[in-house]
Amino acid sequence: MFTTITNWLLEITNVPVFNMPEIGLVQVLDILIIASLLHLVLRWIRRTQAWVLLKGIAFVLIIALFAEIFNLVTVQWIVQNTIGMGLVVVVILFQPELRKALEQIGRGQYLFNLRAETEQRVHTSAHTVDEIIKATRAMANSLTGAIIVLEQEVDLSEHERTGVMIDAQVSARLLMNIFEKNAPLHDGAVVIRENRISSASCILPLTAESIDNALGTRHRAAIGITEHSDARVVVVSEETGIISLAVDGKLTRDVTENHMRDLLIWGEPVKSRFSLFIGKKRRNKS
Ligand code: ATP
Ligand code: MG
Repeated sequence: MFTTITNWLLEITNVPVFNMPEIGLVQVLDILIIASLLHLVLRWIRRTQAWVLLKGIAFVLIIALFAEIFNLVTVQWIVQNTIGMGLVVVVILFQPELRKALEQIGRGQYLFNLRAETEQRVHTSAHTVDEIIKATRAMANSLTGAIIVLEQEVDLSEHERTGVMIDAQVSARLLMNIFEKNAPLHDGAVVIRENRISSASCILPLTAESIDNALGTRHRAAIGITEHSDARVVVVSEETGIISLAVDGKLTRDVTENHMRDLLIWGEPVKSRFSLFIGKKRRNKS
């Protein structure tokens, strides 16, 4: 029995696939460099708007696979030709992000921030969501317009910089104070990152999609930012007091408090998109 197993093992290991090359220092270095580069690229994709791009690439790959399996000649031709062109388009579209990433690598920021960034990020806590709900309820009753953006995985600093930095703990009273009519910071959006109000009076990109005529720029801005990122946005209408929630480029009007809790506390559905690539879980801290 033992000899049969050893013979079988010997036979298997003689197959060329199992003939492992000798691993020396150079090979280890090779693997380490490739692994680090992959890690940097995936982190960059996760923290920028490039995750939308990843979805597009996955879609093209699935089409290419179908075309290969069913031998669809025309589709194969189109896919082969668009991949080359696609690379140029990607570089043009993501030129600002690529430049920023290269600048950060140049400054060594990517390498030094690696640990800090993955370990510090935290989920939106139940306490934060409760304060937001309390504030939106009061603002809806007093017809005070508001737009609150909750950052998830995609970095929103670019939009944050258009406003005024605050860095304060989230509280219903502070939110109400910010959006109070005629208060200096009431115009524009509040951005919440890791259970802190990071800035107020931020200008967000407006959606170009056609939406209900009754909705103006505040609701357009809420949809716009969720088209560019995985952020979740709460809007209170100044005209009607209706509370809406924007996620993934879609606006749901007149949301219930439970619906808001479900969508705002964890952000799990969005995170699961990345879980294939990024294994680390954020800590939950209030
Ligand atoms: P409401 O129902 O509250 O009236 P609305 O969708 O009809 O909202 P407007 O009446 O146009 O929108 O609201 C204007 C307000 O929306 C501005 O005073 C400003 O606070 C906010 N706003 C407009 N554009 C932006 C933007 N790009 N980013 C963030 N906030 C914006
Ligand atoms: Mg209006």
